[in-house]
Amino acid sequence: MGDPGPPAATRPGPDEIALAAPAAGQLCSSQEHRRAGRPAQVVVTLGQMGAADRHREALWLEAWGKPYPMYGPCWDATRQVAQARRPSLAITAPPAPRAGNQPPRGRAARPGTPGRAGQAL
Ligand SMILES: [Zn+2]
Repeated sequence: MGDPGPPAATRPGPDEIALAAPAAGQLCSSQEHRRAGRPAQVVVTLGQMGAADRHREALWLEAWGKPYPMYGPCWDATRQVAQARRPSLAITAPPAPRAGNQPPRGRAARPGTPGRAGQAL
């Protein structure tokens, strides 16, 4: 499957989730969205969500410490589950977004084309 990403500079602690800006061209890591070419809007790295020997309470055991690029709504869903299951959850955002590396806006709407509005089908 390839390299999970750059060497983890951010190592979130227990019940901590670190966020980072995605690189250009990174896609959401869910299979469905990757196939659909959904761009990632945030890179999510999970700390230890519980104890490894208590699977019932631990969340996403196999994902700890790996950076996961996610589409916005996917991150929202992930965060909601994490917050519900890990009440002491802390989310650390990136220090500052770099200029020129903004995530693409969610809007697909185009401004109306000026001029020939009278042309009906
Ligand atoms: Zn997704």
